[in-house]
Order: sequence, then structure tokens, then C-alpha cells
Amino acid sequence: MSVAALVLAAGRGERLGHTLPKAYVPLAGSPILLHALRGLAAVDGIYRLTPVIAAADLAHFRKLPFGPQEAQADRLTEPVFGGVERQESVRAGLESLPADCRFVAVHDAARPLVRPEAVRRVIEVARQKGAALLASPVSDTLKRVREGVVVETPRRSEFWAAQTPQVFAVDLLREALDAATRSGRQATDDAQAVEWLGRSVAVVEGDPDNLKLTHPGDLEVAEAWLARHGCPGAISD
Ligand code: C5P
Repeated sequence: MSVAALVLAAGRGERLGHTLPKAYVPLAGSPILLHALRGLAAVDGIYRLTPVIAAADLAHFRKLPFGPQEAQADRLTEPVFGGVERQESVRAGLESLPADCRFVAVHDAARPLVRPEAVRRVIEVARQKGAALLASPVSDTLKRVREGVVVETPRRSEFWAAQTPQVFAVDLLREALDAATRSGRQATDDAQAVEWLGRSVAVVEGDPDNLKLTHPGDLEVAEAWLARHGCPGAISD
């Protein structure tokens, strides 16, 4: 059973402090979005790869130097235009999927270091359970803070940091996001919308270095990681 992937790149990423929208910022010589696409393109189980971009970024997208790695076997589709909120971008991506597509992997372009091996693992579990996400156990002690004062120190062993890709049965994700939008709620990740339906989402341990690039310093960390490990999409298969 093959899986379609949506790679979300419609955010502005202003916290990165770059003149370009985040997905198009160069990282070790390639735009961030290309790294993310490569990480998924290296996974055979993914038969269709759809970038979700901001309409205003179409000119940047057209200039991306796509290579055989991303375009392999015509898996890369035309981009879909996302919305103002991430949830609306995912819904636009879901709309574009063929009717017979049963599973979808949703990945943030902001995580360009994802390893194909981790993507395979989360797909495998989602096929069995219907919904799964990559996550990593937190190493910091977490504090619940209100008005500058600690009100609680929750048990650390129960906390995991959610990553992407997150993989779902298409019907389940569609139902979850439609319900969230109807009730005026915006989920910060797709698993949250599925949780709101009362459905369970399986957790698959991902790599702690599947970083989400957010702040300027994150680019330097990712550059150093790539210099050491190479592009994950290139080394795996
Ligand atoms: O804003 P946030 O950090 O949640 O963004 C995570 C990912 O979602 C990024 O890759 C970003 O491009 C994408 N996104 C999107 N459409 C939006 C907002 C964010 O595709 N409206």
C-alpha cells in the first residue's frame, strides 16, 4: 500500500531572519525545501510527493534546481498552494490527492534533516494503526509557567517532542482537520487534530537530530550536521 507525501512549505518562517521565505533559504548549497523533498524521495513506499507552497512563492519554487533524486519516476507533482494557517495548507494538500490514495505522510519542509529510515519506520506503524508520528523523548525538565512563575513540573518521562513526518489514513486526517476547522480550532500539528477526535496516534521514536529550523542559529547547526553526515536522502538507499 503506497503512501502519498505532502511537504509543507507555505509558511513565511520569519523567525529565521532571512530575506527569503524559509523553504528557499540555502542550506549547504541547496534550498531547505529540496533537502526535505530528498529525504522523502529516498523512501520507496512513497509514490507521490507534493510540495505545498505559498502562491506568492511560485517564482522561487520554479527556480529550484530539481535533480533526478526528487523527480525520480515522476513522483514529484506540481505544487499546491497552501493557506494562511498550517492546518489550511494541509487541507489544501489533502484535496489534491487522488481518490484512491489511502495513506498520507505530512512533513514540514522546516525539517530538512529527516532520515529516510525514520520515515520508513513511521509509515510502517501508521499502516498498522492508522495514525503515527515521529517523536523524540525530551531531555530537558519541563516547567509549566504562568505569569513568570513555575506552577508545575510534569513527569519528564511522559514527554516527547513531536516531529514530522506524521502519517495517517487519509480519511482519518481529512475528518480530523475538517472537524477542527468547523470548530474554529487550529492544531499545531496534524496528530493534535486526530487526538481531538478521540482517536489514538502511535508514537515512533525518531532521531533527535531531525531538527526543525526556526532561528538563525539553527542554520549553522544544520550546516555542520550535513557536513558531517551528508544529505540523508542521498546516503540511505
Ligand atoms: O509555522 P510552523 O512552525 O508550524 O510551520 C511548520 C511547517 O508548516 C513549515 O514547514 C511551514 O512552511 C509550514 N506551513 C505551511 N503553511 C502555513 C504555515 C506553515 O505550509 N500557513
